[in-house]
Amino acid sequence: MTDRFSFTLDATDGKARTGRIDTPRGTIRTPAFMPVGTAATVKAMLPESVRATGADILLGNTYHLMLRPGAERIARLGGLHRFMNWDRPILTDSGGFQVMSLAGLRKLTEEGVTFASHIDGSKHMLSPETSMEIQRLLGSDIVMCFDECPALPADKQTVAASMRMSMRWAQRSRDAFGDRPGHALFGIMQGGVTRELREESAEALKAIGFDGYAIGGLAVGEGQEAMFGVLDYAPGCLPADKPRYLMGVGKPDDIVGAVQRGVDMMDCVLPSRSGRTGQAWTRRGQLNIKNARHADDPRPLDADCSCPACTGYSRAYLHHVFRAQEMISGMLLTWHNLHYFQELMAGLRAAIAAGMLDDFVADFHAQRAGGDIPPL
Ligand SMILES: [Zn+2]
Repeated sequence: MTDRFSFTLDATDGKARTGRIDTPRGTIRTPAFMPVGTAATVKAMLPESVRATGADILLGNTYHLMLRPGAERIARLGGLHRFMNWDRPILTDSGGFQVMSLAGLRKLTEEGVTFASHIDGSKHMLSPETSMEIQRLLGSDIVMCFDECPALPADKQTVAASMRMSMRWAQRSRDAFGDRPGHALFGIMQGGVTRELREESAEALKAIGFDGYAIGGLAVGEGQEAMFGVLDYAPGCLPADKPRYLMGVGKPDDIVGAVQRGVDMMDCVLPSRSGRTGQAWTRRGQLNIKNARHADDPRPLDADCSCPACTGYSRAYLHHVFRAQEMISGMLLTWHNLHYFQELMAGLRAAIAAGMLDDFVADFHAQRAGGDIPPL
């Protein structure tokens, strides 16, 4: 166990990397997928179940937690790890993205954002300084800079002005964060889909200096082709000896493409959210358990999956409990989806370490191209 935050690269294959982030709360194997625990819970999962799927780190949302139950309350109760019974690393976002997507009556100035809570309309303020303070109260291991992410499509001037303000906010975040051994602060690259803005943003962040670097402003509706277009060069603009985190990604094929392009960390609500809407992700792609074809099917979701949903239950049962709106439906499908995502990450890590990533990716796409098992 270490008392410091550090990143070690073990192997590369093309642009892809595998390694480890060591923190006082445990090791994060990279490339890493982080399940999202929005309101201090990964919905429908016990923390020990999330760990059993192979997750080394969770993501918590500053915006949600500051509004309910409140960061000061969580601090009084011993911090977010104790509060939600997860003793491994936690990354918190800055609140910036969700304030723009969820809050009402926003007012954006150089100082920060004032907004009304989407829960009760109460007035709040988020700035680089308040975001750092809230993330400190939560006890986050990896703290994200407060930034602004303009909705795409936006014209280049708007994206440039927003990015430059985010870089000024990055400096203020760095100053407010101070020196906290064992805790990390990540900068966030912005700049939309314009290469010169992305490069300008990377240079500004490197001049400030961070423990890791995120690529923000992607996976916001621009499409996979545009996202991969940015990822073809953006990770290479960031320091090779620090972790690179792609925020809000994604579907399994997005994850594979991002890892091929040099990304080390990702997060997404997809496996847990789709588990609650009857969507399952397997090596053969996506399937919808509510479809009638599963009603009499005694086979598991995936015969080769070792998760509790696949070892203990048939497609027919999963179909039934989804149709009957039983809570176990969301529990089992979320568990399976998180298990599949973590198994995918483990496969990517092993393939990079063995120098076999191209073969792994070809097999990944071939299995998906075959589609789900045919009906009986
Ligand atoms: Zn499974």
